[in-house]
Amino acid sequence: MKVAIGIDVGGTAIKGGLVSSKGAVLEKDTIPTQAERGVKHVIERTVSLIQALEKTESADSVNAMALGVGVPGFIRRRQGLVVSSPNLEGWVDVPVVAMLEKATNRQVILDNDANNAALGEYVCGAGQGVRSMVMLTLGTGVGSGLILDGKLWRGANECGGELGHTIVQPDGRRCGCGQSGCLEAYASAESTARRTEELIRQGEASVLKGVLDRGEAITAKMVVDAARTEDALACRIWEDTCRYLALACINVQHTLNPECIVFAGGMSTAGDFLREPVARTVRKLHAERFGMPPEVRIAELGSDAGFIGAALSALRGE
Ligand SMILES: [Zn+2]
Repeated sequence: MKVAIGIDVGGTAIKGGLVSSKGAVLEKDTIPTQAERGVKHVIERTVSLIQALEKTESADSVNAMALGVGVPGFIRRRQGLVVSSPNLEGWVDVPVVAMLEKATNRQVILDNDANNAALGEYVCGAGQGVRSMVMLTLGTGVGSGLILDGKLWRGANECGGELGHTIVQPDGRRCGCGQSGCLEAYASAESTARRTEELIRQGEASVLKGVLDRGEAITAKMVVDAARTEDALACRIWEDTCRYLALACINVQHTLNPECIVFAGGMSTAGDFLREPVARTVRKLHAERFGMPPEVRIAELGSDAGFIGAALSALRGE
């Protein structure tokens, strides 16, 4: 059995594990990132997690093990460089591969966290059994990962698949990227919560008004919970979020025609409450002449997807 170490460096936690080529997790562990203490400290912590995994019982074939590492943000894979990261302050042009190779004596394969998570779901999660899938991660923003004919699609400048910045509403809400009307400005967990807050501040009634009155922020989970109890405003916001996601699915269908679209990230924990209305709207908007629309699925690996995919990427040597 071939085994690799996979590491996922996140803004708050570093996750890692020993993973087989079929995606089975033999060992796993999580430590706090302590990102505020700087790049060198985070790299040292990552090395200590790798060494802890090397010492586990499952690590018999340790010397032959490949090492895959995922970091959020803009990566230059071939140079082994993290150019910048929204979740890791101070990470500018960090030569992660050189640093980790020196400390561990292993060859390191680097990618961004979204690509790793998509590969993980593809091999042993919600994407099993298809040739092509698109994953949309609904968190602070809308991230995406594309697997086409079994391979990750990275694009010419390694920034392919920025589906969060496809426009779903002409002249719509301003997005963090500088455009207006992006999918991310409507259907991320963050923007779903902010849209709700804005309408309550404009005087609309909702059970969530009390949250704002207490000086707290509304979260996407609160919107989902309120919509489940049929709060009229929350229902309307949620319907809109699902409709924008359905529009994105139709656009993805006509660009790539994948067999399935997988929703991941914090907001995907809404499960069928998310999947069913999106799938229904996709079926409604989609013309029969194009065959079956992509199946809408919910991610299965949770926050383990990143390190699982990092290990698989190292095993595949891509
Ligand atoms: Zn945008």
